[in-house]
Amino acid sequence: MTAENSARSTSAATLYIDGAWRAAALGREFDMFNPADGSVLGAASDGSASEARSAVDSAAAAFAWWSRTTAYERAAYLERAHALMLERAEDLAVLMTKEQGKPLKAARNEVRYAADFLSWYAEEAKRVYGATIPSSRAGHRFMTMRQPVGVVAAITPWNYPVSMITRKVAPAIAAGCTIVLKPAEQTPLCAVAVFQVLHDAGLPAGVVNLVTTSDPAPVGDALLDSPAVRKLTFTGSTEVGMMLGAKAAHTVKRVSLELGGHAPFLVFGDADPRRAAKGLGLVKFLNTGQACICPNRVFVQRELVDDFLNVLVQRVSAMKAGNGLDQDVTIGPLIDEAAMTKMRRQVTNAVDHGAKVLTGGERLTDPRLPGGRFFAPTVLTDVTPEMDIYHEETFGPIAPVIAFDDEDGAIAMANDTAYGLAAYVYTENLSRALRVTEALRFGIVGINDINPTSAAAPFGGTGHSGLGREGGPQGIDEYLDTKLVGITL
Ligand code: ADP
Repeated sequence: MTAENSARSTSAATLYIDGAWRAAALGREFDMFNPADGSVLGAASDGSASEARSAVDSAAAAFAWWSRTTAYERAAYLERAHALMLERAEDLAVLMTKEQGKPLKAARNEVRYAADFLSWYAEEAKRVYGATIPSSRAGHRFMTMRQPVGVVAAITPWNYPVSMITRKVAPAIAAGCTIVLKPAEQTPLCAVAVFQVLHDAGLPAGVVNLVTTSDPAPVGDALLDSPAVRKLTFTGSTEVGMMLGAKAAHTVKRVSLELGGHAPFLVFGDADPRRAAKGLGLVKFLNTGQACICPNRVFVQRELVDDFLNVLVQRVSAMKAGNGLDQDVTIGPLIDEAAMTKMRRQVTNAVDHGAKVLTGGERLTDPRLPGGRFFAPTVLTDVTPEMDIYHEETFGPIAPVIAFDDEDGAIAMANDTAYGLAAYVYTENLSRALRVTEALRFGIVGINDINPTSAAAPFGGTGHSGLGREGGPQGIDEYLDTKLVGITL
């Protein structure tokens, strides 16, 4: 926050606390930039720790009665929010492209995906069942009931700035929890638009609260230090997730973490190389490579490498980088200069160790978009374990290709990482598909499939990729405690 910023008259009122939009104290706000051209897009209120505490107070007060509403009442709000989000889908998608950079078509897909969580958890709210358990004692019974954990703190990233919000908010409020959300500092305007949907759907004051800020640590600390907050749900980097998880331990909060990935993409000799290369081109360059399920290491059985690369390089070199609002653009900008530096470093390091650049490999300049951060979609081959890109999450548009000779070797290399989010297997052999899937230490496996995600399906990782699942019945379990009841008749 610069002195100039703090002196500016306030136009942004993007804190949503106790059912009302508010500006931050002293009118503090911060600017948002369009990553395609560097232009200022708008401003958000720069919330502080004390505003985060007010949001927790509001969520705690609302929890007292929201947790006692019926599942049918909560579902009705979610259904209204779902309908409103679809009504506003185009505006939301355009805002997302401007604030985050992804091509408009991808932004439209994300809004539909985001809306799916609202409708899916409206239904699932009604299926929060308990159990009766036979007791070994005569005249004695056991039962379980499921109850909401309490106030939830949610911290979301910039790469999927709409769907990562509904993926947390929908199951939380379906379960009967109330929530305080801190969105990424790069994309608060998308969060504001989602909260406007929730507000217009009539959600009562205090059930959902939003604290935008340019300085995540004090706001995050206020949420994590509060004993009233009973659950942390976080999506972001492994480094920050580990730190927040440790802080949450001081008040023994429930924790779910959806962290980084280093997805292997395995193409076996019996696969169709065209189909595999097409799949890789789509999922690797999704969101300019800025998704935690993007393949980071492409293992191809040696006899297929040439055919696979021919198709891949052809497809990748035809991709067009630019402003996501332009119709033919398939690759948007990188989110910030640090990402650009990382791409350059990974390519230079790989080339220094003997990798070849088959296409891309450098920053692109577009005279019409002088402030844009575009990195050419890149294919590297002859990648080896000596290179940074073999071990590090890339989070950008670089596909490193590594040849392998046999199944066991491929599995060993695929598992040679502390991460464990998504993995992909291309093969026409059913036994191999199942064998390899069982051997991969990852939470999600796509078999000849590049889109293993849905509101109905549990998404999450193992190891340094996180804890817990989002989506599906498992997604609402994260917001519920099980109460055991013993009854003497
Ligand atoms: P990325 O590197 O992809 O931006 P981060 O893990 O830094 O991922 O960010 C994900 C989310 O975590 C964002 O909402 C960000 O503001 C938040 N965040 C980052 N650092 C902290 C922190 N110290 N305390 C709380 N939240 C944080």
